[in-house]
Amino acid sequence: MTISQLSRKNIQALTPYQSARRLGGSGDVWLNANEYAVSPNFDLTDRTFNRYPEPQPLAVIEGYARYAGVTPENVLVSRGGDESIELLIRAFCEPSDQILYCPPTYGMYAVSADTCGINTKTVPLTTDFQLNLPEIKRNLDGVKIVFVCSPNNPTGNLIKRADLLELLQITAGKAIVVVDEAYIEFCPKATLANELPNYPHLAIIRTLSKAFALAGLRCGFTLANAELIGVLQKVIAPYPLPVPVSDIAAQALSPQGIEQMRERVAEVITLRTDLQKNLENLPLVEKVFDSEANYLLFKCQDGQKVFKALWDQGIILRDQHKALGLQNCIRITIGTVEENLKVVKALSATY
Ligand SMILES: *Cc1c(COP(=O)(O)O)cnc(C)c1O
Repeated sequence: MTISQLSRKNIQALTPYQSARRLGGSGDVWLNANEYAVSPNFDLTDRTFNRYPEPQPLAVIEGYARYAGVTPENVLVSRGGDESIELLIRAFCEPSDQILYCPPTYGMYAVSADTCGINTKTVPLTTDFQLNLPEIKRNLDGVKIVFVCSPNNPTGNLIKRADLLELLQITAGKAIVVVDEAYIEFCPKATLANELPNYPHLAIIRTLSKAFALAGLRCGFTLANAELIGVLQKVIAPYPLPVPVSDIAAQALSPQGIEQMRERVAEVITLRTDLQKNLENLPLVEKVFDSEANYLLFKCQDGQKVFKALWDQGIILRDQHKALGLQNCIRITIGTVEENLKVVKALSATY
């Protein structure tokens, strides 16, 4: 047997997550991974690395709890929000259980489930990208986790709060509801964090990768009640955060760091409004979807051709043509003023 054949069957069949970086491209305008365009500055204040780090560094846990308006026992820190997705599946799903998610949405729910050998059920979002609750209700048998992304990646819209609360009602005692709030800083009022006291089966995913401009740090969070956090504590690696990561994360979560994050968010929202208008004025753009996040989804007549034309000019966007119901759609991260102008210019020259 080859080494590949020795690997688990589900791994042999696995298509790994097509991360923006994995897809490659040689560009000078990178608007495909929903990162912030420029790096904030940090100094390492902790320079001793001979000892193992704190398993859950107190300064980071307390800083995030303060920021999120919860208590430290409601917070788990992990290697990005992505690790939280996998921890939840590993901790809650038996091999015979299933997860449910609603495409078009973030790709890692399926990839993590496939990696763990857990079957997936999908209930597509409605045409206006909302939950199809009757259909979800009909499909809950055997489902241990329901993943919902709000604001949804890649569509950009919020899932209606009333629908999320109804989902929490119908899953109580049966399944975990994971609300992925990776982009919640761009619409902070929409968070479900204040609902945690009412729902022991609610888990919220957060990250420093987007509004906090720290995708390279690999630092994310799960917010939930203490019992759920305790379950995840059992399966997380012993020392998930390297010392330099928790050092920088703690600085990002200081009052000053949070103030800077809020300034960035305000700036991104202004630029998003401008970019949306500019895209809407282009003849080749059929539709720009409203967004509550740091990216926009837009539809062209021939999206793949447009994507390729920009790719060839070193402008790397995210093709969504293969995502369910998103034929000819492209996702673009809000870049700097210059980057956004460059895109609009390139698009106007494409036809
Ligand atoms: C970016 C993102 C995450 C988490 O990213 P990390 O970099 O692993 O923290 C989670 N969910 C969605 C929808 C995202 O877009």
